[in-house]
Amino acid sequence: MTLSAPLTSLKGVGPRLAERLERLGLRGVEDLLFHLPYRYQDRTHVAVIGALRPGSELVVEGEVQACDIKFGKRRSLLCRINDGTGSLMLRFFHFNARQQAGLVRGARLRCFGEVRRGAAMLEMVHPEYELLDPEGGLAPLAGTATEPHLTPLYHTTDGLAQKSLRQLTDRALERLAQAELFDYLPSELVATLGLPGLAEALRYVHRPPPDAPVAALLAGEHPAQQRLAFEELLAHHLSLRQLRQRIEINSAPVMVVPGSLLQQLRAGLPFTLTGAQRRVMAELFADMAKPHPMQRLVQGDVGCGKTLVAAAAALQAVEAGYQVAVMAPTELLAEQHLRNFRHWCEPLGLQVAWFSGKQGVRERRDNLARLVAGDAALAVGTHALFQDEVVFNRLGLVVVDEQHRFGVHQRLALREKGRDVDGRLPHQLIMTATPIPRTLAMTAYADLDISVIDELPPGRTPVETVVISDSRRAEVVQRVHSACASEGRQAYWVCTLIEESELLQCQAAEAAVVELTEALPDLNIGLLHGRMKSAEKESIMAAFKGGELQLLVATTVIEVGVDVPNASLMIIENAERLGLAQLHQLRGRVGRGDVSSSCVLMYHKPLSAQGRARLAALRETNDGFEIARRDLELRGPGEVLGTRQSGLLMLRIADLVRDQALLPQVEAVAGQLLQRWPERVPPLIARWLGEAQRYGDV
Ligand code: ADP
Ligand code: MG
Repeated sequence: MTLSAPLTSLKGVGPRLAERLERLGLRGVEDLLFHLPYRYQDRTHVAVIGALRPGSELVVEGEVQACDIKFGKRRSLLCRINDGTGSLMLRFFHFNARQQAGLVRGARLRCFGEVRRGAAMLEMVHPEYELLDPEGGLAPLAGTATEPHLTPLYHTTDGLAQKSLRQLTDRALERLAQAELFDYLPSELVATLGLPGLAEALRYVHRPPPDAPVAALLAGEHPAQQRLAFEELLAHHLSLRQLRQRIEINSAPVMVVPGSLLQQLRAGLPFTLTGAQRRVMAELFADMAKPHPMQRLVQGDVGCGKTLVAAAAALQAVEAGYQVAVMAPTELLAEQHLRNFRHWCEPLGLQVAWFSGKQGVRERRDNLARLVAGDAALAVGTHALFQDEVVFNRLGLVVVDEQHRFGVHQRLALREKGRDVDGRLPHQLIMTATPIPRTLAMTAYADLDISVIDELPPGRTPVETVVISDSRRAEVVQRVHSACASEGRQAYWVCTLIEESELLQCQAAEAAVVELTEALPDLNIGLLHGRMKSAEKESIMAAFKGGELQLLVATTVIEVGVDVPNASLMIIENAERLGLAQLHQLRGRVGRGDVSSSCVLMYHKPLSAQGRARLAALRETNDGFEIARRDLELRGPGEVLGTRQSGLLMLRIADLVRDQALLPQVEAVAGQLLQRWPERVPPLIARWLGEAQRYGDV
């Protein structure tokens, strides 16, 4: 029997069970071996009741002091035990008379369960428990010769108990002992990494032996776990590299031009380019001069001037005789790009077409006509740009402002959209709103080259950030008053998301306007939110830019698309609700002029430990790369990248934060495999990423 045999080849697996296993994506015996425990329960030692903390899951022993039925909303059996250091309440909602009879005063118990906060003292709800023999010595703790000390827990599905999964895994492991599991990592590479072989690692993580180092295993740092994490990261990385190669073999328009359009643009700018902007532009131009599609990500902190770099690439493409598509994930950001590109390109005699889901039929038709005819050199818009009806004349470059909202698949779809009659693909440039930690970029964006704009334009002043409870709101309002009325500055007041509802957010902003107008009668206050019509938004923004409005109350829509150098104060309400990247992006709206700026992060009590850490990170640094690094540590990669990057959320054993140190080696080993053992790459990817191979099948 081989490991590729179906699960029904295991004893006890019939069609019904097989169907349940299939729900977990498990078909063959090998799949089961790679269905790894997501954590372990530690039943190796008895904890001291006096030192318990809520949230931990462990073994305790104690003597029953009282056991009573409590009547109330829900009838429950309450049993208090004590081990001489403290008391713990055991709570059972389901119980029978026999059970109650066993829990008499003086009886000794061993329990395993999760500790929770209770009304009077810490509790365990429905712990597993056994009565201890009052005479004899203690029964051994978990971990007999056959049972591991650490109990593995597996992701499971309805109708499939942990215990059954454990039994099945046992059988798969027996099969592993007889059959050969091909280790795609060359043994010489594994040896240099100091990690165990594949079969050994699998056996270890499924059934840690009695002498296993508990702390290392619980932390995911055991070499066996690291070996598997390494291989998993390698598979993901390879899958992206492979995708990249697949695109690289395509041809793309060669764009080699003198750059006279860019020269004209630069001559009209009121500032000079930063060194970093010039360097990144040169990287883009070098890519675009090649006969293969550019696949480049431009990263940089808020305000470093990414848009201008994108515009430079666009002009290069236009000068070479091609059209350019610029796509943004939201209406507001797309509108902002439209303004910028028109401002920069129309003086050069270029037309910019506009595509938005909200525009009328006639407007759409007019823009389409200009695009198809080739009169419009650029098209700016939202997803609407990539509907079937939008046809380009000669698309040569696609710019995507990603804002963490598109995933690998969306990127690919856009690229395909631009394939021309000769089968050539357009060049592609991705921009991210805020930096992504390097380690994350290496995994999530391994299909792209990365350029970093690591310099801000001169004259930017660092923003001073304070964190204040909203119980001191009146002081904050006063601060707005002195900034606007006495110092002639302008300010933003941002109302944050309420339960993900845009409507509620707008209502909160409307209420804030009423309240602030009352408190600050001598200020001109405007309101900006996502539900307003474009024209309305434009006129409010123009009034704020022109200084007629001193205070702009807004929803988080101003995260992007607002650039008013005289605004030097940013108030963010309920800042604890927002992620670090978003807060950093919002804060980036001030500090754009030469006056010193500040940002007030107001929070509502109680503040969670994580919320506190987030706000502290912002107070402590203005560096977007450092903030991104902390964000990754606080929230994990799924949140940082956004849910669309689902491929990364599905890591089985690797943890991008914990296993960061492995990534440089992953990159190196990937290179060696591709070069020396290319035939091993596809099966390795299939083993970890499944048949869909997630990124590769597009
Ligand atoms: P981000 O990188 O956050 O997208 P933007 O492209 O929106 O930043 O640029 C922020 C502001 O800085 C814009 O007003 C832009 O015109 C301006 N800017 C861009 N490059 C420079 C520069 N080299 N010197 C001064 N200002 C610049
Ligand atoms: Mg931008």
